Amino acid sequence: MYIAILFILGCGLSPSNETGTLPANQSARNRSSAGQPVNLVIFTLDTTRADHLGSGGYERILTPNLDRLARGGIQYINAYAQAPRTVESHASIFTGIYPFIHQAANASGRGKFPMSDRFETLAEIMRENGYQTAAFTTSVMVRARDSGLEQGFETYSDYDQGELKADRNNQRFFRWFEQKAVQPFFVWIHYYDPHIPYAAPAPFDSLYEPVTGHHTYKKIVRKQGLTNLENYTVGEGISRYDEEITFMDHHFGKIIEFLNRKGLLDSTVLVTIADHGESLSEHNSFFSHGYDIFEPAVRIPCMILDPGSDRGGMIVNALVESVDVFPTIMNRFGLRHSNPIQGRNLTGYFDSDTAVSRDRVFSQRNADSPRILQFGVRDRRWTYITGKDTPRMAYVFDRDIDPGEIRNRGTHPPADFDRDLFHEFLMDQLGAKDEYPAATPISLPLDSRLAEQLEVLGYMH
Ligand SMILES: [Zn+2]
Repeated sequence: MYIAILFILGCGLSPSNETGTLPANQSARNRSSAGQPVNLVIFTLDTTRADHLGSGGYERILTPNLDRLARGGIQYINAYAQAPRTVESHASIFTGIYPFIHQAANASGRGKFPMSDRFETLAEIMRENGYQTAAFTTSVMVRARDSGLEQGFETYSDYDQGELKADRNNQRFFRWFEQKAVQPFFVWIHYYDPHIPYAAPAPFDSLYEPVTGHHTYKKIVRKQGLTNLENYTVGEGISRYDEEITFMDHHFGKIIEFLNRKGLLDSTVLVTIADHGESLSEHNSFFSHGYDIFEPAVRIPCMILDPGSDRGGMIVNALVESVDVFPTIMNRFGLRHSNPIQGRNLTGYFDSDTAVSRDRVFSQRNADSPRILQFGVRDRRWTYITGKDTPRMAYVFDRDIDPGEIRNRGTHPPADFDRDLFHEFLMDQLGAKDEYPAATPISLPLDSRLAEQLEVLGYMH
């Protein structure tokens, strides 16, 4: 039965541009071939691993709608999050700035750390340039004022009771669209479903058999205080996680179907990216994220469909980061900004292979974490994870032979790994702080309601 539900989306997502190349004139770029203004919709898939989508090579999962987007658009298969936590990562997506400069962070037992208003956000810039802006978010973690992510949105639908499911979030978007939407618009749709607790509604709650090869980690799971996994084996927990992703995919498809019905797919740029992944038992982290920056936590799906591009189905192997979204949108829509961005413009991939690629990507685990601050540098082969002042105590992984980053080579690094090169790159990145002083962290006390909700989500450490 679920197959019928999953494949309800009949429309194709093939790029509709007939001309093949982007018009040189920017005002023409901001009109579709039929003369409509070009809109922007950004989907952020919370807690979604790149390797748990069909388009990411995960064969057992059903994600037909995201896969269709990947086939119709440009898929960046080596995309990395700046940080493994929600607020840090979203702030980087929406400003193009690394977390150690924007200083926004998840609320925790220590308080809340909203994004400073010192930097321009994507929504602020789009709004100043005549775009209607609206956000539909689904977690207490990104609530207005607590997160600062509401900056620039005329409409900011948030949720303060833990997690709002994707179907109900869609209803809010549909209602807004019918009552208020004026083109051109920038809409942010946030889905939180793959975050714990894993509890996809029927009929999605029994789609998958447990992944085999895992034994019970009941005690460890219980120790972490997770809300609904106490009686699961790891294999069952992974299935529950996958069911949430399939549920989210189904409702993602409903938005695409809606835009198609409204005749907007030819005139809307769609960006789909996760804020971070999820550790499903790797490195003794069970159904969790935020505590490390290994591959499961930071390798994310990233896809862009621009109806003005003829590169549909293109797979980009180059390394990209979540901070690239901001400069890419600035360039695509011909917008100006004053942010000290660390991101790169990816529009070069929209009509040619001329994007400025980078040799290495950067991630960090937030200082607010109970463990030490940690930074990660990856090139196409090596992963180097260390503290700022502790290069001799690093994790080193060779992803050519160890794509899951399981076997740490840090104690005896292979001869062809150049640690100095990686550490210098890290110090160069952190040096941006001298050129662009970091925002002053804003620390605000938690109210009891937020504290209660954070406890449920496992963030009161
Ligand atoms: Zn998140």
